Amino acid sequence: MEARNSQPVTIVGAGIVGICCALSLLEKGFPVRLIDRDEPGSGASNGNAGVISPWSCVPQSMPDLWKNIPKLLFDRDGPVSIIPSHFPRFLPWLLRFLLAGRARRVAAISDAMSVLTRQNVDMYRCHLAGTGQENLLRDSWYIFVSRNSEFDFPDSLGWRLRRKVGAPMLKIDRSELNDIEPALSKEYQSAILIKGQARAVSPGRISSVLAEKVKSLGGTIIRCAVHRISPDLQGKWLIQTDNGEELTQCLVVAAGAWSARLLAPLNIKIPLEAERGYHVAFPDPGVTLNNSIADMDMYVVSSSMEEGLRTAGTAEFAELDATPNYKRAKMLVHQTKNMIPDLNTDEPDFWMGIRPSFPDSLPCIGEVKGYPGLIVAFGHSHYGLGMAPMTGWLAAEIASGGKPDVDMVPYDIHRFSS
Ligand SMILES: Cc1cc2nc3c(=O)[nH]c(=O)nc-3n(C[C@H](O)[C@H](O)[C@H](O)COP(=O)(O)OP(=O)(O)OC[C@H]3O[C@@H](n4cnc5c(N)ncnc54)[C@H](O)[C@@H]3O)c2cc1C
Repeated sequence: MEARNSQPVTIVGAGIVGICCALSLLEKGFPVRLIDRDEPGSGASNGNAGVISPWSCVPQSMPDLWKNIPKLLFDRDGPVSIIPSHFPRFLPWLLRFLLAGRARRVAAISDAMSVLTRQNVDMYRCHLAGTGQENLLRDSWYIFVSRNSEFDFPDSLGWRLRRKVGAPMLKIDRSELNDIEPALSKEYQSAILIKGQARAVSPGRISSVLAEKVKSLGGTIIRCAVHRISPDLQGKWLIQTDNGEELTQCLVVAAGAWSARLLAPLNIKIPLEAERGYHVAFPDPGVTLNNSIADMDMYVVSSSMEEGLRTAGTAEFAELDATPNYKRAKMLVHQTKNMIPDLNTDEPDFWMGIRPSFPDSLPCIGEVKGYPGLIVAFGHSHYGLGMAPMTGWLAAEIASGGKPDVDMVPYDIHRFSS
């Protein structure tokens, strides 16, 4: 991309990804307009599990996963579900997902994930510096717990990938687990602890605090829906919104799960799924967790947050506009009670958010070939909170005509056409 410093940039989507793009662009001196139809950070970026791990390098699709597919798909109370009417549209994505789980692909995907995550804690600290809300990010361990004493540490591929990127991990016994997390059930037989990461004590507030920082640095935040984007004859981008039309030299699409819809009229077809997740938050839990806790039997993550003790998880594939199915969130109540027996479960709060998910667990980042001035930054699936700062930095580098010292091929939006 030609150097375009100081040309205004418009970003569609003020989730954590769009906000981090805005901050990095402002740091480089670009005037920034950030457009969202809702409050900043009220999409998937609001209700997630708050895990910010520099060691997030294990893709969702792994070599042996196919063996579990029938059980995962047909267990109605299991961690994965598909709305039946969505199945025909979901099938091609599932096939691509399984192909992404071949051992050779997994190694390459893991490397590309690691590029986006390994500096995330430091980058968040820089973004939060000076906001007065630096303690929204806490140093944390990530503790994986299981009722199964045969929990496959340290040899399985996922742990080997984490070890390769230097994750400081150790296995701890039941009494050590009890010392670190006394609120957890005594039924857990084994636990693996990963050090050196962080957790958000309110992912939603991180977004709103950083959105305020965007404004304080001179950025503009506009609340309106974008209906259409198209290139105009002068090489600019025309954005049609509720508020009318505007032109911009450079446009960043960071609209999470809704991004494919904006790109479809440009004949850009991509396998982006709406992978819905849910959380339950207990506002008066009566107990505290000191770290992020992943229950490996139920595939959920719990953490103490400002809004209460939150358990987040489940993957539900559905049409983008399908009504939430809060039964999935209600399942999390008894799962959390099983994890934390003394938990006060009164007045639980339920939430649904949509992960923007590609079959290979990687986002699309970069300028779109054939469309100068159009940059994409979306598709972060389960890892968007952790990958947002680096995504923002890359988007800003590309907008300024720089060539990031990173192999961008794994994030190419055209990678699915071959
Ligand atoms: C249950 C759950 C747990 C998770 N846990 C973690 C975790 O622990 N760690 C982690 O790293 N990640 C986690 N994730 C994933 C993470 O939350 C997402 O990857 C991330 O929030 C995606 O951010 P985003 O900015 O791309 O999307 P969003 O936050 O969804 O933002 C997209 C924004 O675009 C706006 N928008 C869309 N279309 C338009 C339009 N046409 N006009 C105007 N505005 C528009 C929307 O209003 C929205 O605000 C979790 C996700 C879920 C659901």
